[in-house]
Amino acid sequence: MSTWRIDLSNFRESCHRKSRRVVPVRPNALRTWRAHVLFLGAGLCAAVWIFGMAGAIFAQGNETSDTAQPTLRVGFGKSDITPARPTPMAGYYGVRFSTGTHDPLWSKATILDDGKTKVVLISIDLIATTPWMVAETRELIREKFGIPEDCVMISATHSHTGPMLYEPDERLPARFGNQTDEAKQYMLSLPSRILESVAAAESYSIPASLHHGIGSETKLAFNRRFFMTDGTVGWNPGKLNPKIVREAGPTDDGLPMIIVQDDQSTPIGILSSFAIHLDTVGGTEWSADMPFTIEQCLGRVFGPNRHFQYATGCCGDVNHIDVRSASRQGGHQEAARIGTRLSGAILRNLNALQKATSTGIQASREIVLLPKAPHTEERSRWAKEVLSKISDTPAPPFMDMVEAYRIADVEARGDSLIEAEVQVITVGREIAWVSLPGEIFVQLGMSIKAGSPFATTSIHELANGSIGYVPTQQAYAQGNYEVISARCAEGSGELLVASALKQLRAQFNAKQQ
Ligand SMILES: [Zn+2]
Repeated sequence: MSTWRIDLSNFRESCHRKSRRVVPVRPNALRTWRAHVLFLGAGLCAAVWIFGMAGAIFAQGNETSDTAQPTLRVGFGKSDITPARPTPMAGYYGVRFSTGTHDPLWSKATILDDGKTKVVLISIDLIATTPWMVAETRELIREKFGIPEDCVMISATHSHTGPMLYEPDERLPARFGNQTDEAKQYMLSLPSRILESVAAAESYSIPASLHHGIGSETKLAFNRRFFMTDGTVGWNPGKLNPKIVREAGPTDDGLPMIIVQDDQSTPIGILSSFAIHLDTVGGTEWSADMPFTIEQCLGRVFGPNRHFQYATGCCGDVNHIDVRSASRQGGHQEAARIGTRLSGAILRNLNALQKATSTGIQASREIVLLPKAPHTEERSRWAKEVLSKISDTPAPPFMDMVEAYRIADVEARGDSLIEAEVQVITVGREIAWVSLPGEIFVQLGMSIKAGSPFATTSIHELANGSIGYVPTQQAYAQGNYEVISARCAEGSGELLVASALKQLRAQFNAKQQ
């Protein structure tokens, strides 16, 4: 893991907004939910690379408590992580400062504790997670709550209307305002702000049970790569493009859901994930994008103080654009449409969930070393020329910038391989969360789900750092945007899948039947 660390002592206080919201879910507030639940019941009723999987496998876990019932405690909390002042925004190849807030960005935390092992799942409304952010936050959580790094999973929803993320690693090229003082101050404040959501969850953890299952939502997400009439594979080829032949990859309709109930059988929180790229809103106002609508919709059903934690699944090649429809698909109304449909799918499937029969928690992670995408000396010189013109008007062509940044990033890493953390957290033999550190092609996520021995496997991408796009081996030969952008070489995605499946099998087999 990362070894560099910045002294935050001078920054923590100055970067906090006094009025920042921290919202725990209080047990006494949960009692009123029963009425809502009754309403709900009535109304809805590689040639894989030879590169070794490097590094140590870190593992924590309770292998023997599966039969002891009920021992599980669950706590929820969230904290406002919206930048306090105008800050460069993430999401696109250009600098744009924020002008206001449409809806706040949140860090949402769920703590699960079986009495022997405590884990925390964190979802943040940001474009990505970075190594420094994750290492620093994990260290704070370990210092404050004694939860080891292996047991802390931090994923980003990939909102394109959050801030640019400051990179303390000076080797990497600056981009689109990420080295400004505003971006730096924001990043330096972030770990302690995420910690507040964990503190809120820790303060109010209560005895609880888990119910789990996989719902589905079809025709909401679309693969954005297409075979074209000229034999190439197109990327976002445009609506009603007559040269489209068919999709070059699948979509994942699965909607993993975990509902948490208190000891009165009252639902107190819902965790879900879905494979759809979170780039709907655009503009210059802070917004969590579609998860904002999920919280609004489910909050109306269950009450506003409940906890709805959404994570983005493997969607490196999947977005919300239906090229066979001419209708415009952007802005807050489109985000509301997507969020409302996903909320409906969650509600439709609630009654079909199964109660988890065991509570033993395990956590493990592995640092997989990935090969870097190759390029020639000539291409290196070309990339430097492109980057020297990045501020020109007009800017260099989009795909040229994408490739030039990839080459600069790859060269900045020197001789070292790319470190990619794969983490697995499981409850009993039924529920699994898997994290992957990048924008992962959907087929890779589907391979993990298909090979997982657990009944419900939820995958969170852009977690515990981000290595950029991770295409399938098949996609490398087809080229286009994600492949041009990918820092890791062909076969990397399949190595991540192998690590995830290895850890899933190990945890499953370690638990008593
Ligand atoms: Zn994106």
